[in-house]
Amino acid sequence: MKNYIKPHEWNIIEEGFDPHLNKISESIFSLGNGRMGQRANFEETYTGETLPGNYVAGIYYPDKTRVGWWKNGYPEYFAKVLNAANWVGIEVKIDDEILDLATCSVTDFKRVLNMHAGYLERSFTATLKSGKTLKVTSTRFCSIVDDEVGAIRYSITPLNFDGKLTLLPFIDGDVKNQDSNYDEKFWEAVNDKISGTEAFLTLRTKKTGFEVCTGSSIEVYRNGTSQDIAPEHIIKEKYVGHQFTLNVSAGEEITLVKIAANLSSENHTKADILQQTQSVVKAAAQKGFDVLLQQQAEAWAVKWEESDIVIEGDVAAQQAIRFNIFQLFQTYTGKDSRLNIGPKGFTGEKYGGSTYWDTEAYCVPFYLATAPQQVSKNLLIYRYKQLDKAIENAAKLGFDKGAALYPMVTINGEECHNEWEITFEEIHRNGAIAYAIFNYIRYTGDDSYLYDYGLEVLVGIARFWQQRVNWSDAKQQYVILGVTGPNEYENNVNNNWYTNLLAAWCMKYATEAAGIVEAAQPEKYQALINKLSLGENEFNDWTQIIDKMYYPVDTEKGIFLQQDGYLDKEQILVKDLPVSQRPINQKWSWDRILRSCYIKQADVLQGLYFFEDDYDTETIKRNFDFYEPRTVHESSLSPCVHSILAARLNDEARAYEFYLRTARLDLDDYNNDTEDGLHITSMAGTWMSVVEGFAGMRVRDGKLQFNPFLPGKWQSFSFTIGFRGTVLNVKITESEISIKNNTAINLEITVKNQQFTLAGHSLLEATYKELA
Ligand code: BGC
Repeated sequence: MKNYIKPHEWNIIEEGFDPHLNKISESIFSLGNGRMGQRANFEETYTGETLPGNYVAGIYYPDKTRVGWWKNGYPEYFAKVLNAANWVGIEVKIDDEILDLATCSVTDFKRVLNMHAGYLERSFTATLKSGKTLKVTSTRFCSIVDDEVGAIRYSITPLNFDGKLTLLPFIDGDVKNQDSNYDEKFWEAVNDKISGTEAFLTLRTKKTGFEVCTGSSIEVYRNGTSQDIAPEHIIKEKYVGHQFTLNVSAGEEITLVKIAANLSSENHTKADILQQTQSVVKAAAQKGFDVLLQQQAEAWAVKWEESDIVIEGDVAAQQAIRFNIFQLFQTYTGKDSRLNIGPKGFTGEKYGGSTYWDTEAYCVPFYLATAPQQVSKNLLIYRYKQLDKAIENAAKLGFDKGAALYPMVTINGEECHNEWEITFEEIHRNGAIAYAIFNYIRYTGDDSYLYDYGLEVLVGIARFWQQRVNWSDAKQQYVILGVTGPNEYENNVNNNWYTNLLAAWCMKYATEAAGIVEAAQPEKYQALINKLSLGENEFNDWTQIIDKMYYPVDTEKGIFLQQDGYLDKEQILVKDLPVSQRPINQKWSWDRILRSCYIKQADVLQGLYFFEDDYDTETIKRNFDFYEPRTVHESSLSPCVHSILAARLNDEARAYEFYLRTARLDLDDYNNDTEDGLHITSMAGTWMSVVEGFAGMRVRDGKLQFNPFLPGKWQSFSFTIGFRGTVLNVKITESEISIKNNTAINLEITVKNQQFTLAGHSLLEATYKELA
């Protein structure tokens, strides 16, 4: 755990340069706009430790799978989001010395990520080996208005010398992925073009043939006055740059503005991509840095109006929750249903930028409440579009008749994960995809999703479960053998309670969904029945399985068993594990982990979270009290579920304690892994802890409910959500809740079990005493 980020309500601040923290900061200060993302790599040369990263959404390379022992059914490749051409690079030379923070002495170093306006600022003073000292400030952003555009303003002031300043802004496509399985480079050159002050480089991915054209345009100012420059054109293999030298005097400020763009063949034809990039760069350069930045700030202000969480009385918590919201919106904007949310977003290579069940289980609730409906709908449509691949994926494993198994890890719908215990066994992911459809409709009321897309997905998933269960003569019930639950510290278990529960629920929900479509849209229903060759017998089979599904329980303890035999394990609680043994995934052999009772992430409790209305409080409490002390939370996705359940059980202190484990996970590098990238998907879980946990927000029978409390030392917290056309500001203090309806729509609302009608543009204020 580190503690170097300075607290501030709207900014993320680092002061002082510590090369050991650089890769962590490169992740934390990442920028993105849903189309592209850029780690906070320095513009100037840096020979110290760095993980370069510029990622273009949807562009991946199928890196040939590397496994120790091949098993039938393994995927051929792991799709990896690519480190694309470096567009931020600016080489800086003072006389003959290269500016490189790894080799000079650095003072007054400061990075500030301004989350309100969406830009990154960096400043420092560097003294070169020759003793020459210069001051540098840079500002950059990835525009959310023109989402193919990025811009940099880079200023240099010599402090104690007159001399020659040589600048070389460049685009460098000779880049690698550090996670490349065979240490190969994934890009090949297509073309380059350089003229006056503009440069363009088009690269093509090997195998997948995606093209990305990166372009830039530069301008130079001396003490704010535009300069005419005639740069030398530097062209190398996969590299274009403009080099020019200026005589500078101490105290003069030289500013280079670099406006860049990344355009991909996912959005432009290959024939036009260069020309299109030229137009985008030209248009952005015409707007100019200041206008682009102004528009950026305005656009972010609108996003914040729709999604901010304000915490009074705890600056660290305030900073953290805004950081999480900011990074989620930098990652996914919901404009394009071909895109999804990698667990690290655009902030690192880990997890390949691919889609996991994290999206459905954790991110969908966040976007449902904080962004227009189409945003979460597009996340669902992404899976709809990949249904054929999910059916192929199931077929590869031996399933038939339209059974669909969605991959554990994917970009284009094909499975990429290559560990048998996850690829073949962590099938609960299929349930999360169905659950997200349910969750979307529960929140939005948009049943039409079922007619247009959802039912097909649900049927494919239900068919999978139907074939995946088997009848146990011994038990006279249906069982599911050989699975891995969300707790990946157990593999190949029989009857994981969560998986069995979800399997049965999926079949039930598919049946209900069919009924909804049939009643509302009989013609569409008939067309779907025909398209899917869905027979009445399938519904009957599903019902039979639902009725006779086996769920492991321990009646004496009154708990659901995580899987058959769980209680045979030695039951030593986490609190009794010496601190020196943790995290167990770093300290123990895998064998020892598998035999232990320790739970990586919420498993039974994940099920109770999804389906809490099916269980009484006592049951939830018994299970929580049993499983929480055995959970090591070594997945960042875990504590949020525990936080929400603790809140549900009125255990306010623990709800807050679990929340704290995720809230500043990356800002404080809690797990010593922030350098690999940020935990983007678990950031949505943090949001859930606040809104579903502390505010107790639920949607039941199409209506919003709140059951709030004020956690920790906070004086109040408030948040904005959108719900069925309304926009609400909810504020919670120690003694009261207020809900402001910013729209003309009337809303029925329940607060602590009392019902209210919140008329359009009205304010509800109620003290907890009144509600008791
Ligand atoms: C977790 C999975 C998760 C993945 C990506 C793993 O460590 O156990 O549940 O999907 O990370 O976030």
